[in-house]
Amino acid sequence: KETHFGFQTVSEEEKGERVYQVFENVARKYDLMNDSMSLGVHRLWKDWLIQYMNPTPGTKLLDVAGGTGDIAFRFVNYIRAQKEKMIRHKLKYQQNLSWSEISRAYQQEEQGSLGGSRAVICDINKEMLKVGKQKSLTLGYSEGLSWVAGNAEELPFDDDKFDVYTIAFGIRNVTHIDQALQEAYRVLKPGGRFLCLEFSQVNNPLLARAYDLYSFQVIPVLGEIIAGDWKSYQYLVESIRRFPPQEEFKAMIEDAGFFKVKYHNLTSGIVAVHSGFKL
Ligand code: SAM
Repeated sequence: KETHFGFQTVSEEEKGERVYQVFENVARKYDLMNDSMSLGVHRLWKDWLIQYMNPTPGTKLLDVAGGTGDIAFRFVNYIRAQKEKMIRHKLKYQQNLSWSEISRAYQQEEQGSLGGSRAVICDINKEMLKVGKQKSLTLGYSEGLSWVAGNAEELPFDDDKFDVYTIAFGIRNVTHIDQALQEAYRVLKPGGRFLCLEFSQVNNPLLARAYDLYSFQVIPVLGEIIAGDWKSYQYLVESIRRFPPQEEFKAMIEDAGFFKVKYHNLTSGIVAVHSGFKL
């Protein structure tokens, strides 16, 4: 069967191989490129996703196409902050301690604890995972994280395992999106939540023109300058154009069996967050 790689028609098998090559080529420069191409805005979109998820200590997250770990690290930060807030609250109001005593008690007993939360980062590309794992050690994020090589279309996990499934800037790279959505549904626990952050359709005509110009003229040039790789970044731009718009993607998520599916546009629809629940 045939499919697309950017605007080229290729076999399904070839698409998978080419996508693998793109991320193998860019892995070491991936974070730098993300920051320079989005002028740092990808950080705000990812922060928004985690705030929206609002996970509590104990939540088990599967981050598919997790790449270099951006979503998982934010998840851990959020859980740590939640946990800290809960401990402070408990100690302050139950035992009437001073803040310095609370802080000492907190450091001794509970620091670093995620309250049983875990995040599994799953990505098809070993190079991306390698860079992510290295980053997690450098940044001190080893607790509660595991890194697993796997395909979104055929996840190496049992049914009903996770509370939340995330996929950020990943699903448009997958050859069979419907299969990836079915797999998301399968590995989530009943009551679990699907969250997808992806480039989408810009709903402001003026911004859309500027965005087009930027995407086609500037991004491949930046790709060449920073990563020495024009083609990979041209593919990324083209894959964004091919991805279904908000309403169409919403219907696909519903087709996979999810309930209460909705989406939020961020930055006038440059990206959208889709959410749905397994009941
Ligand atoms: N989620 C990370 C982020 O937001 O920074 C990384 C996004 S990166 C643009 C896309 C990732 O999708 C790459 O790491 C790539 O290897 C991964 N990917 C592509 N096809 C995949 C598949 N079929 N299954 C799992 N991961 C895949």
